[in-house]
Amino acid sequence: MLNKEELLQYLEKEKQAIYQRGDTFFQCAELGFCEVETAKKITELLDEWGIPYEKEIALTGIIATLGSGKGYHIAFVADIDALPRKDGKGNIHSCGHSIQTTMGLSLLKALHESGILEQTDCGVSFFFTPAEEYIDFAYRDGLIAKGKLEFRSGKQNMIALGYFDEVNCVLSAHANGDEGTKFDVDSTLAGFMAKKAVFMGRAAHSGAAPHLGRNTLHGATLAMNALSFLKDQFAVEKGLRLNPVLTAGGGSVNTIPDVTVLETYVRANDNETLFEACKRFDGCIEHCAKALDLGYEISNTVGYLPLAQSKGLNKVVRGNMLLYCSSEEIVESPISGASGDVGDLGFLIPTIQFGFSGVKGRFHDDSFAIADYENCYITSGKVMLGTIYDLITNPDSRVQQNKKEYIGKKLEYFGWLHHNYQ
Ligand SMILES: [Zn+2]
Ligand SMILES: [Zn+2]
Repeated sequence: MLNKEELLQYLEKEKQAIYQRGDTFFQCAELGFCEVETAKKITELLDEWGIPYEKEIALTGIIATLGSGKGYHIAFVADIDALPRKDGKGNIHSCGHSIQTTMGLSLLKALHESGILEQTDCGVSFFFTPAEEYIDFAYRDGLIAKGKLEFRSGKQNMIALGYFDEVNCVLSAHANGDEGTKFDVDSTLAGFMAKKAVFMGRAAHSGAAPHLGRNTLHGATLAMNALSFLKDQFAVEKGLRLNPVLTAGGGSVNTIPDVTVLETYVRANDNETLFEACKRFDGCIEHCAKALDLGYEISNTVGYLPLAQSKGLNKVVRGNMLLYCSSEEIVESPISGASGDVGDLGFLIPTIQFGFSGVKGRFHDDSFAIADYENCYITSGKVMLGTIYDLITNPDSRVQQNKKEYIGKKLEYFGWLHHNYQ
């Protein structure tokens, strides 16, 4: 069998072709569930290399598997979607997902050509996942209404379709904005749920007979106060964010308002906090409405779960990073306010997502660009490929998925997706 260095050479000798593919995918920027050209480019390469795959999963997703996966089955997850440009001129890969796509293809080719997986009982499935960015709701909800999708994000649909059921662990990488460092490891991602509370009261003349009305702005104001007090009940590191706004309420100064709408995201760094905060949010709305004899309705739009990474897998990742940089160049366990649907995978399966530097400009902005090709495509690729090598050749490095636990967690997860987080 090849040693690690020999396997990593596959990336080194392909360097120029990888950079070119990186440029091609960076320029092919399509929004979530519209990644048709991107998917075509991916499958053309897989055809050329003779790698079998399944396509059109959750509309535009692709999965290619190498090896049997009987002993240990690794999933490498690459986002493929982009964002709209701020100047209105099409789309741009301003979150760097094209780098993940390119990395996935580089690793696929290296593992395929080396034939290394066939010498083990392990397998790696490459998931090219659509629609990670949580945007474009009208379009996605339209697809859901037509029965083409069940949820708004690519990974959520792929989980629901059962494609992750046989996987033992999930590996991924995402560009970060850190300058002066090479990587980050064990970062959090915040989870969130969108909440909408409608207070229902009774209109009346505000001068002649206000006592006959039931003022919904009063209910919403009371709830705003309760929510700001609620934030005090969670420790700072839990990352609870509640920023309620009133999106409707009041029309004429002469009339007691009978409908007021309060909306907020509930964000938190861990599931427990997120679920508990959602529950207490509902309590605040319910009791403030009842205190003032108002009706209320709460609706939820499910977001993403917070990401908690596998410490065991990150030990392997960190070891591979240290082959290319000093420990000072690795940012340890940063707390990120960003969110991603990889958080949902992390809830179900041992998961990691390391960060790599090498991009410039601002994320989600037209100024975003790739600056350090070597770190984005080659060094990060080597960290990932080296991690895969360690997992397939050294059983002691593996973090095992507990099947029974997975089934229980999946049930809990579907409760979350269907808003029954209580
Ligand atoms: Zn993004
Ligand atoms: Zn992203």
